[in-house]
Amino acid sequence: MTLFGVKVPHRKNTKDKKPLRMSAPSLMYYPASQHIGAPGKPVVKVGDTVNVGSLLFESGGFVGSPIYSSVSGKVKKIEDMLQSNGSYVPCVVVENDGENVIDPSVKAPNVNDYDSFINAVKASGVVGLGGAGFPTAVKLGVGDVSRIEIVVINGAECEPYITSDTRTMLDRSEDISEGIHLLRKYLGVEKVVIGIEKNKPECIEEMKRIAGQHEGVVEVKPLPSIYPQGGEKVLVYNATGRVIGEGKLPIDAGVIVINCTTLACIASYIRDGMPLVEKCVTVDGSAVKEPQNVIVPIGTPASAVFDFCGGFKEEPGKVLYGGPMMGVSVSDLNAPVIKQTNALIAFNEKDAMPKKTTPCIRCGRCTNTCPFGLAPVSFAKAYEQNDMEMLEKLRANLCMECGCCAYACPAGIPLVQKNKLAKAALAAYLKKKKEENK
Ligand code: SF4
Ligand code: SF4
Repeated sequence: MTLFGVKVPHRKNTKDKKPLRMSAPSLMYYPASQHIGAPGKPVVKVGDTVNVGSLLFESGGFVGSPIYSSVSGKVKKIEDMLQSNGSYVPCVVVENDGENVIDPSVKAPNVNDYDSFINAVKASGVVGLGGAGFPTAVKLGVGDVSRIEIVVINGAECEPYITSDTRTMLDRSEDISEGIHLLRKYLGVEKVVIGIEKNKPECIEEMKRIAGQHEGVVEVKPLPSIYPQGGEKVLVYNATGRVIGEGKLPIDAGVIVINCTTLACIASYIRDGMPLVEKCVTVDGSAVKEPQNVIVPIGTPASAVFDFCGGFKEEPGKVLYGGPMMGVSVSDLNAPVIKQTNALIAFNEKDAMPKKTTPCIRCGRCTNTCPFGLAPVSFAKAYEQNDMEMLEKLRANLCMECGCCAYACPAGIPLVQKNKLAKAALAAYLKKKKEENK
């Protein structure tokens, strides 16, 4: 059995475009939160000189990650920046001097065992670069490495338009191979599965070549070209047959999942010591003049990235950070590219128009297409009736907000927005219930 989702149009217009490197503009913006977990703590002040690779924020907690400057110059100000979740975090604004001076602290780390490897991953600032943003050192730092039976490398880039991981598999395959060597050496990994959808035959071929460098340890698994094939639970099941139980992590099923670009960036950090300061971003959509893959210095405002791609051929009606299924819509083009950004998609007014909403016709497509068989139409009803017990029974907390249900709904009901509200209300209810039972 294969876990299914929906067949979405792929629109991988940029898959053959090798990433072009852009220069950083004069002002760069580094918000404290670029990952899941605690925002970073600023370690610089206004007027400080910084270099490429200088630490701007230290990790703000166990689930956290340091943030580094991608340019050299001076800290111009530290201001509050509004996040997509409605909260404010400090943002360090750096005036770029254009000199690209490398910080003296940038040097290859000394890695010779498990602890030093995990410390290096932590120092690299690398987080889940497929868009999830979970700090990689926390994910790999399982302590007891005998729990890791399989590492699944995520090469399933299932959202329409996005091709940045595709380019990593084609252009940085040796970094991926080096990353596999590191996992084998320091985590004792004996089995690696690289999951890639069948619609990327060139990536499958290149990863098979890399697999040949690893004495039977690495298997390349072609997967159905469906969305959300890259979702962690879906990928693990389809690539290994293992089921991640409700409320469990992949490691509970003996598996660690790591995105292909994340692994490549760990390998390059351990080789040369340059932390994560740039990101390959797919720039596409009907409003973009010259769709392209771009290597963007982290902290660059989206407007500068679109300018690098020739600007807009039509007034954009909607700009997304990420793909059309899970991306976040932004209204301010000064918002910077952060570690998690893998795409900037701008649609013209026509393509941005939301579907006309009509009443639910009880067709059941939302449940049939949900990879977990959830019933989002019932979440909405329970949420409107403030029936938290029902939401709990319906397991609304399992929803990964993938958007398959909304995509399939013939009535154009914005189910994901409703799911988000229901999940937030349920989380607050469960927290309160737990506190009352203490
Ligand atoms: S209910 Fe949640 S997990 Fe299921 S399809 Fe909808 S968004 Fe995806
Ligand atoms: S897919 Fe849309 S119309 Fe069909 S049952 Fe679900 S919410 Fe109702």
